[in-house]
Amino acid sequence: MSLDDHAEELASDLGVDKEEVKSDLENLVEYSVPVEEAKDSLRRKYGDDSGGGGGPTTKSIAEITTGDSNVTVTGTVLTVGKRSIRYQGSDNVIFEGEIADETGKISYTAWDDFGLQAGQTITAGNAGIREWEGEPELNLGESTTIGLADEDLAVDFPVGGDSGLAELEVGDRGRNVEVTALEVETKTIDGRDGETDILSGILADETTRLPFTDWEPHEAITEGASIRLEDAFVREFRGAPSINVSEFTTVTELDRTVEATDEAPRLAIRDAIESGGLFDAELVGNVIAVRDGSGLIERCPECGRVVQNGQCRTHGAVDGVDDLRIKAILDDGTGTVTAILDDELTEAIYGGDIEDAKAHAREEMDQEAVADDIRETLVGREFRVRGSLSVDEYGANLNARSFDETDDDPASRAGDLLTEVRG
Ligand SMILES: [Zn+2]
Repeated sequence: MSLDDHAEELASDLGVDKEEVKSDLENLVEYSVPVEEAKDSLRRKYGDDSGGGGGPTTKSIAEITTGDSNVTVTGTVLTVGKRSIRYQGSDNVIFEGEIADETGKISYTAWDDFGLQAGQTITAGNAGIREWEGEPELNLGESTTIGLADEDLAVDFPVGGDSGLAELEVGDRGRNVEVTALEVETKTIDGRDGETDILSGILADETTRLPFTDWEPHEAITEGASIRLEDAFVREFRGAPSINVSEFTTVTELDRTVEATDEAPRLAIRDAIESGGLFDAELVGNVIAVRDGSGLIERCPECGRVVQNGQCRTHGAVDGVDDLRIKAILDDGTGTVTAILDDELTEAIYGGDIEDAKAHAREEMDQEAVADDIRETLVGREFRVRGSLSVDEYGANLNARSFDETDDDPASRAGDLLTEVRG
C-alpha cells in the first residue's frame, strides 16, 4: 500500500480532506514513525476516538506506557536540545530532551517552540505518546498545551545537561560538555545541499575520549583547545557513541585546561557488551580461539571486504589484495568478544610482515599456515586489549588499538584484587 493509499483510506474513515491527512502522514513517516502508528496518531488527532474514551488521563512519568495515546503530565525539564530536520524541502526546528518527575524520566520531542527551558517545571496537557525503540516518548505538538506548574518537583536527576563524556549515551540531546579537542580534521562531504565542509576528530575530558562531528564548523574547535559545548547531541557512529555539534551548539573557549585522560575505562566483558558500544575501552581476557579469516587474507580492491576464493560478495571475481589480520576470541569468564587486530598489530604478533607471511604460506603450500602459527602463539594466553567496541548483528567486536600480554602473574593479581576490595 502506498502512502497515497493510506492517506485515502484514512481520509475516508475520518471524513476529512485527503491532502491534509497525507501531508500529516508524510511528516510522521519522514520522522521514522511506522506507518500504522502514524495512522493511529492521526485518527486521534482528527477525533476518531474509537480507541479510548474521554480526555487524556493525568499520569506520573513511571505510569506512562507505550499503550497510552495521550496523557497530561507534570515534570521538570532536564534538557532541551534544538535540532533541525528537513521536511518537504524546508528545514523545521524541533526541540528534544528529557523531562522528569519524582517517579522517573522520559524523553520528549516538541514539534513547536514552547520556549522550554531546563529547570522549568511544566504541565503538558494532551501530550501524545509514541514508542521509540521500545520506550514511550512524549510528543508535544499543536494539540498540546504547556503551562508552568505552581510548584517545583524534587527530582533525582541532574538538571541542565552538563555531562562527563563517559556518561553520554546514544540518543542523548541537549548535552553540555567541557573537553579538550585532541584531534580535529576538516572533511568535505556530499551533504544534502551539495558539497560542504565538516569537522571531525576526537574530544576528551577527565573521564574518557569520544569521536565528534561538527556539521556547521565552529572556529573555536581547534586541536588542543579546551572548550565548552552547549547543546550537543549523541549519535551512534561505528557502533559507539559520537558527539554531534550542530548550528545550534554554542562553543566557547575555556580559561582552564581540561585534562584529557590517557586511560581507557577497564571493564568486565559482560558489562562492556551491555553498554551497547564504547569508543575506548580496555578489556582483559584469555584468547580461547583464533577465528577463521585470520592470518594471511585477501581483500577486495574495490570495497576492502575479505574475499573468499577470489570472489567478493559485492564485486564478484576480483584480484584480491593481500593483508594480515587477526580475529581472536577473548574470554574473561563474564563474556566473550572478538578482538580484531589490523596488519600492524598482526605483524608484531606473527613476527613478520606480509612478504614473510606469503613466503611462509608458499613454503608450507598452505594459506592457513600463517593463521596456524598465530593460533599457536595466542591461544591460552591472557591479553589486555584496548580499542573500540561495537555490538550489533555481527556480534561484539573490539577493534584493537593495542594488544599486550598481561605481565602480572596470578599472585600479584590476587594482591591487586585484595587491595581493591580493601580500598
Ligand atoms: Zn568488493
